[in-house]
Amino acid sequence: MQQCFFLFYPSQAPRLPKAGETIRGHKFFIGFGGKGANQCIQAARLGVKTAMICKVWKRLEVFNQNFVWQTSDAATGAASITVNDAGENAIVIVAGANMRLGEEELQQALTAIRKAKVLVCQLEISSQTSLRALQMAHDNKVRTIFNPAPAVPDLDFGFYRVSDVFCCNESEAELLTGYSVNNVEDAHHAAQELLRRGCTAVIITLGPQGCVVLKAQDKTSTHVPSTAVKAVDTTGAGDSFIGALAFYLAHHPDMPLEEMARRANQVAAVSVQAVGTQTSFPFKRDLPADLF
Ligand code: AMP
Repeated sequence: MQQCFFLFYPSQAPRLPKAGETIRGHKFFIGFGGKGANQCIQAARLGVKTAMICKVWKRLEVFNQNFVWQTSDAATGAASITVNDAGENAIVIVAGANMRLGEEELQQALTAIRKAKVLVCQLEISSQTSLRALQMAHDNKVRTIFNPAPAVPDLDFGFYRVSDVFCCNESEAELLTGYSVNNVEDAHHAAQELLRRGCTAVIITLGPQGCVVLKAQDKTSTHVPSTAVKAVDTTGAGDSFIGALAFYLAHHPDMPLEEMARRANQVAAVSVQAVGTQTSFPFKRDLPADLF
């Protein structure tokens, strides 16, 4: 279960417009996203039953599921993105209805949270609501994955205590710990620091280098390398990784975390070989049988 939903409005133009300027672009489309929605889609494509707990604008009818609340007070979260011919972008994100998800909705979803095998949260909704959802899951012995993204430097320490797997990328680890994280060695140190704050396990993803896994019961972390592939678009690779991790945690709860990470690396490595975010996420049928 996960919790943020955004509509994306990307347009491609020769260059980024200056303040007050209107320019012609050559391509526009509307996409679905939000880290929570992306992670949920990847987990579902691998074959696990998923549900979103989220809030959207009243007239948006993309979902036909429980736990999608509607509000007339705010628009569905939206990201307006301009990409120039050099691949640089300028992005405005408005969280909108995502920020209206609160305690009342969580209480209504409590029965479902209790029944879930895994709850995944991020920081694209109010951090108070995210923390509360993780606490509810933790109190009910539901395993939790927390993805502290977008990262904030002064993250409430309560998040660490309710995270079974605290999973972030290099730049998030850097912001949270204050250490610079540029390679596997740095990631080992940052993971130790994050673990000291109270989570059960830490994963720091390292792009083409895979990830580093550190569990509370172990003294040292393990580097889990990724497969070398020709990456064409790495957008959403982290969400593909976390969606896959949630799948393995739900379907193979007794599998060692390092093995889950090895398989999640392979799923995410497939996603970087195609353009787009959700559109690049593989289905079970696209992947080798030994990943299941
Ligand atoms: P990141 O958010 O960039 O750390 O990427 C998340 C995960 O996606 C990594 O842990 C890898 O499993 C995978 N990944 C990202 N970039 C690449 C790449 N260039 N080649 C292979 N795997 C990648």
